[in-house]
Amino acid sequence: MSFADSLNQAAVIGAGTMGNGIAQVFAQSGHDVVLIDTFPESLERGKATIEKNLGRMVKKERISQDDADAALGRLRFEGEMAAAEGAMLAIEAVPEIRDLKLDLHRQLDALVAPGGIIATNTSSISITEIAAATQRPENFIGMHFMNPVPIMKLIEVIRGHATSDETCASILDLSRQLGKTPVEVNDYPGFVSNRVLLPMLNEAIYCIMEGVATAESIDEVLKLGMNHPMGPLALADFIGLDVCLNIMEVLHDGLGDSKYRPCPLLKRMVAAGHLGRKSGRGFYEYSG
Ligand code: NAD
Repeated sequence: MSFADSLNQAAVIGAGTMGNGIAQVFAQSGHDVVLIDTFPESLERGKATIEKNLGRMVKKERISQDDADAALGRLRFEGEMAAAEGAMLAIEAVPEIRDLKLDLHRQLDALVAPGGIIATNTSSISITEIAAATQRPENFIGMHFMNPVPIMKLIEVIRGHATSDETCASILDLSRQLGKTPVEVNDYPGFVSNRVLLPMLNEAIYCIMEGVATAESIDEVLKLGMNHPMGPLALADFIGLDVCLNIMEVLHDGLGDSKYRPCPLLKRMVAAGHLGRKSGRGFYEYSG
């Protein structure tokens, strides 16, 4: 029997932007899932988001009401880490704070079933380093889902230094069973997605700083000339300029090459609190 077929229960830790989407996708694929968040308001918000998303899919006739009810019936919402006990798979999606993740993975290691797999959705922290906080680095892997999770097809599956072939094969197979397309990559700073994307966004910011063109013009060039659905500066605002800066710093520190230096204008905007959509102002202004 494959790992996906034998999966008794998946535990998703963190009910925020990514975690509630991951839990929804598992439940819609027929898996029992427990969504854990130690902040009651976050857990409530995560639950409401899933209900709203499934309701919207019913309205658009993408799924039936019975499908939505069945998915909700497979979900449990819990406020204590102990709810992960005995799960064959845990996926962590808590904020991108190294010490928080290391501590949480030590706890998970003691709770997840022996032989079970632990995955992290980190965007930039080393999979190998987080795996080393557990006693099961061979059963540890990165599952980098994309936002919004129910819609985006890709899962970047990241092998840590000690990840076993068996763990990797199980997660690739499970990802397909979730209706996603997994792509296997190795654990280097930024993996593939952020190592290729972020330097492009950073370069677009250099273009503004050097007065090459306006934000609107730069975004138009990439949209109309390269068929990108969104311009790099609108995308940087969407991701959050603080998150972009953090990832550039990870690339710069981890790869030690000056080509990854964060643009001074990016640093200045973050220092000013102009973080993009979430603060109402970045390269563009946002209201509401
Ligand atoms: P978020 O802030 O929206 O959600 C994090 C959730 O974790 C919150 O609900 C919070 O209450 C909860 N939490 C905090 N401490 C906890 C703890 N000790 N135990 C249980 N729950 C706890 O963050 P997010 O955007 O969903 O990001 C989560 C992870 O996914 C990060 O590592 C991030 O880098 C990665 N990621 C994010 C995106 C994105 O576009 N947002 C994309 C890919 C990967």
